Amino acid sequence: MSDSPIPTLSTWVEVPKNSDFTIYNLPFGIFKNKKLSPRIGMAIGDKIVDLSVLDQEGFFANMFLPEGIFIKDSLNELIALGKVQTKKIRERVQSLLLSENEELRDHSARGKVMVTRKEAEMLLPVKIGDYTDFYSSIEHATNVGKMFRDPENALLPNWRHLPVGYHGRASSIVVSGTPIHRPKGQFKDPDMEMPAFGPSRRLDFELELAFITGKQTKLGDSISTEDAEDYIFGFVLFNDWSARDIQAWEYVPLGPFLGKSFGSSISPWVVTLEALEYFRTPNPVQEPEVLPYLKCEKDHNFDINLEVLIQPDGKKPSKVCSSNFKHMYWNVAQQLAHHTSNGCNINVGDMMASGTISGPSDDSLGSMLELSWKGTRAVKLEEGEERKFIEDGDTVIMRGYAERDGVRVGFGEVSSQILPAK
Ligand code: MN
Repeated sequence: MSDSPIPTLSTWVEVPKNSDFTIYNLPFGIFKNKKLSPRIGMAIGDKIVDLSVLDQEGFFANMFLPEGIFIKDSLNELIALGKVQTKKIRERVQSLLLSENEELRDHSARGKVMVTRKEAEMLLPVKIGDYTDFYSSIEHATNVGKMFRDPENALLPNWRHLPVGYHGRASSIVVSGTPIHRPKGQFKDPDMEMPAFGPSRRLDFELELAFITGKQTKLGDSISTEDAEDYIFGFVLFNDWSARDIQAWEYVPLGPFLGKSFGSSISPWVVTLEALEYFRTPNPVQEPEVLPYLKCEKDHNFDINLEVLIQPDGKKPSKVCSSNFKHMYWNVAQQLAHHTSNGCNINVGDMMASGTISGPSDDSLGSMLELSWKGTRAVKLEEGEERKFIEDGDTVIMRGYAERDGVRVGFGEVSSQILPAK
């Protein structure tokens, strides 16, 4: 828990200072390189541990793993083995990397096991079945309500009673590094008599984290807040690209559609729930009291620093936002309990995004919509640039890490460039 001391671990792997991928983290991902076909690895420092080679060399003996479980182009089958198994695998690798453990350190296969991360290409870590996007930051929901509705009654009447969400599009979720073309669509600004069709003029990012489900439910079953974490495998950074002009015109009355579905970008390394254990923070006080099925006994919020940078083509990146996952009003256990409260089943590899994570200060707003206050103020970047929304050629970079007592567990980054409309 957040106040318990973190045991000291040291590894024989060289881990650069401020690396997100410490011995405490060990996230799972799918990688390939010029010589290796897609497979499952774990990041540490500037290396990737090739789990398939560890397996071939007998390091997972007596764990009864299915043959070839690590030679896969997604984590789904591995995750489906269940938390007991995936936890054991992660703990086994962690023990193999400890300074005092000579098993791998002094093994002849060490060079083959440790792959250089720079030379690897990261692939989408999971085959995503369904994707849901929540709207769980009270600061974000309040800001949007102030901008588009009544500043005095910014939150809609349901907001404090249930974690609002919508079903999104899984087919267009891509891994960090994949460029996104500016979407085209229909929009009608208040000063336009008729709608028009063309490239979006108000392209935005949304700073989010998403969790990946690791266990399925049967149609008709519900998950309690108490059991919810058994169904969560891990987290990735999530950029929920949004075309504000398309969104504003299309969303009545059924919610987001083409203003969102043209693309979402995720970070490639899945940070497990176990790795985040030491970074729990208390749940925020919820007022009014929530209904019994949404009440929580445990803390399900996490102290994860988040930042967004915009890098215009050929220029330096500028930080435009510093936020934190701990600001979430609705936590992951409540999101999953609510999602399944009607009996809707979930599958291994579903992705549930948090909603834009804005904080209370002006520099913690998780979208350009808020940072530029609906395009009414420019956000200053380095080298004399400024932005109200995202322009062609811009790269948006999101980073996230938890840190306590000098121990760091991070996500790396999700970075994607916007190309002109096709
Ligand atoms: Mn969103």
